[in-house]
Amino acid sequence: MNNYGKRKPRPSQPKKVGKGNSCPLYKKCGGCQLQNMTYPEQLSFKQAKTIRLLGRFGHVEEIIGMEKPYRYRNKVQAAFGTTRGGKIISGVYQSSSHNIVLVDDCMLEDETADKIITDIRKILLPRFKLAAYNEDTGKGFLRHVLVKRGFATNEVMTVLVTGTRIFPKKDEFVTELKKLHPEITTIIWNINGGKTSLVLGDREEVLYGSGYIEDILCEKRFRISAKSFYQINPVQTEKLYRAAIDFAELTGNETVLDAYCGTGTIGIVAADKAKQVIGVELNKDAVKDAINNARLNNTDNIRFFCADAGKFMVGMAEDKEKVDLVIMDPPRAGSDLNFLRSVTTLKPQKVVYISCNPETQARDLTFLCKNGYKVMKIQPVDMFPHTSHVETVVLLSQRRPDTHIDIKLDLSELDVTAAETKATYQEIKDYVFEKFALKVSSLYISQVKTKCGIIERENYNKGKEGHRVPKCPKEKEEAIMDALKHFNMI
Ligand code: SAH
Repeated sequence: MNNYGKRKPRPSQPKKVGKGNSCPLYKKCGGCQLQNMTYPEQLSFKQAKTIRLLGRFGHVEEIIGMEKPYRYRNKVQAAFGTTRGGKIISGVYQSSSHNIVLVDDCMLEDETADKIITDIRKILLPRFKLAAYNEDTGKGFLRHVLVKRGFATNEVMTVLVTGTRIFPKKDEFVTELKKLHPEITTIIWNINGGKTSLVLGDREEVLYGSGYIEDILCEKRFRISAKSFYQINPVQTEKLYRAAIDFAELTGNETVLDAYCGTGTIGIVAADKAKQVIGVELNKDAVKDAINNARLNNTDNIRFFCADAGKFMVGMAEDKEKVDLVIMDPPRAGSDLNFLRSVTTLKPQKVVYISCNPETQARDLTFLCKNGYKVMKIQPVDMFPHTSHVETVVLLSQRRPDTHIDIKLDLSELDVTAAETKATYQEIKDYVFEKFALKVSSLYISQVKTKCGIIERENYNKGKEGHRVPKCPKEKEEAIMDALKHFNMI
């Protein structure tokens, strides 16, 4: 039985964020870990975090923040459910559960998207007698609504995700939605009846418009479909891409590899300044979009391959291909040894490494620095204001063969097992502090991880000889468990 969050009124206009938890859902939603700080304090926090994780490799430039750090999310998704009293609610899942916290208006989300979702909720039952989907019974109709808006083009996609294959009064529903929100340019019906926490299912039908939207980044047009990855903060993405491409100092003669290229965005922007670009990406929908995006921008010096980046690089190294620059933007888990080893075999003059997780990036940089590269520049960018996440761009360059550098490396900072790459110790500590007002030590986190079967290095668990190791109290153990669930680590 679902136990839904109580309805709380939300302000129609988002208040300025500062100390004092101005969002009434701050604790329940869990999305904004840093909302207890002013924005300048948040930037200092992220600067310090980057220095702590990457400072040993060189000077960290000042973080690039946002002028207006609100309403930056161009993609909003809401889960639908029913309260015990029979009312339909929509919003986000409370951390580590499938209980829905009602959200009508979030200061991070696009306002148009929030309004569309609220209006769908308002017409669903009263006007169309349609129920929200119930994950436990598999009955009901609407499961999620996903809205994406191209900030530069104003094109709006609305995806109605249902648990059923039947859509009663489909045409009427579409007509009503278009009437309420004429700004919607495409409506998609996606069917997801599975027992899954994924939002989108495999089957989809376009009910109105083209089935995709377009947006403009760095003067290039990009096609975005329901399933393909597109950066969620376009204002900061432009700054991130420009930093990455500036770092590369392309002259027009280079062969560039855009690894983990998604829909080809960085590669297409870089292609204007390079001889040729090769993009590699695992997700086949993203590769299809990437090929279309190259066409859309008349970029004919770029090719895309659908493959695991590591395996693809091994192939390139075996074929002794010549690459001058590798741009890599892997997911949170970072890159893999196949990939990194092949970089050191191919020996591109420069590597630009973009990361949304400086902890795994530090691990990968260590490998590259021990194998012929040195870090030249480190630039943090605030892609996700009010959350604890920080994005970093690092430029590496080939060292001359006769030089070597020493890197001070605290291995206890670099926990590299797959499950552990999901959240750093600091992120777990921050989360626990924000949610439960409890301070937990690395030792306690380590003990709980061990208990949950996440392999733990030994040094945290072992005390010095003759010393008793303190044991994590029950209350803190529960709070850490909550954090591990929140970060999908258990
Ligand atoms: N550079 C892109 C996408 C970055 S997100 C952008 O800025 O939009 C990371 C991408 O890596 C995702 O598109 C994901 O599908 C892809 N990916 C994940 N594992 C991969 C692997 N092993 N090989 C290639 N691509 C992978």
